[in-house]
Amino acid sequence: MRFEALRRDVKTKARLGVCHTAHGSFQTPAFMPVGTQATVKAVTQEELRELGYDIILANTYHLYLRPGHELIKKAGGLHKFMNWDRAILTDSGGYQVFSLGDIRKITEDGVKFKSYIDGSEHFFTPESVIDIEAAIGADIIMAFDECPPYPSTYEYAREATQRTHDWAVRCKEAWSGKQALFGIVQGSTFRDLREWSAEFISSLDLPGNAIGGVSVGEPKPSMREAVEWTAHLLPEHKPRYLMGVGTPLDIIDFVMLGIDMFDCVLPTRLGRNGSMYTTYGRINIKNARFIDDFSPLDPECDCLVCRNYTSAYIRHLYKSEEILAARLATYHNLAFYQRVIRGIREAIAADRLADYRREFLSKYSVGAELKQETVS
Ligand SMILES: [Zn+2]
Repeated sequence: MRFEALRRDVKTKARLGVCHTAHGSFQTPAFMPVGTQATVKAVTQEELRELGYDIILANTYHLYLRPGHELIKKAGGLHKFMNWDRAILTDSGGYQVFSLGDIRKITEDGVKFKSYIDGSEHFFTPESVIDIEAAIGADIIMAFDECPPYPSTYEYAREATQRTHDWAVRCKEAWSGKQALFGIVQGSTFRDLREWSAEFISSLDLPGNAIGGVSVGEPKPSMREAVEWTAHLLPEHKPRYLMGVGTPLDIIDFVMLGIDMFDCVLPTRLGRNGSMYTTYGRINIKNARFIDDFSPLDPECDCLVCRNYTSAYIRHLYKSEEILAARLATYHNLAFYQRVIRGIREAIAADRLADYRREFLSKYSVGAELKQETVS
């Protein structure tokens, strides 16, 4: 993988770039839809291409448990298995092991956990995770890390950060060099741990760097601090990925701090729950005010859904629990995220990202349920 930083916004730390992978190039800032089980829920791979997505994320933990990385390897790798010829990033499973996993034991060597599917016991080590990610065959792979919950004590956060560093070294040693391995900065909500971690992970000189351990239930100011403390310590000439973030406004804000890549379940998960992003804020389609609203979800959206269907019809689909409701909502929300990302890129190219943020917010806050949107 090769990363080209093309341009830097004059007033902020935002940058415009392009990542070249074996499965095509993707522009940055980039948003990666989450395809946990080798599918971005409710949309087809053809639709993702139509929406302009050039990279998606898949979850190592889930694919390891089902259908198993050996089966994916037998299929010729994940790109072939799911018929996606553009870039893929796999996370390392660290986040899932520590958040979903029924953890049996954490040792210096790895983590023993129980499958959420059948209760069977498994053991992940940095080396085994790199092997699993190699079998899956994504273009970008993440190092195995320990993601501490929020809140964590300083002592525990320090131990988890140390273990993350030791494991990153072992991941690098086990890595073939064929895929682009990214290291992950941890450190919870503690400034000295975050800075230490950013410096250590950068020193490994991997193809890219990520900030992890955010979006784990901490308040938004803490998430922002974690990025402010570390983003500038990560090398300029490599992509910076903020894991599990965020809302459209989060993305604009963190691009301004120098982040290039994002992934988040919000547009897809909220869509399935009847919540849609629009230019004038997030709406809940189940709300009675949409009963006879024969206008599109978002008057400024030109996606297939907004061109062809009304809010009243989509509300009816929800109330009738029709599968098409989730399909249309997900498609529109992913179109909205793509429109925001494109707006960000155009604004950086024109040195007007701060103006773009102001314009975005002036409309978005009109009807927005601007409560803090958190992922649970
Ligand atoms: Zn739309």
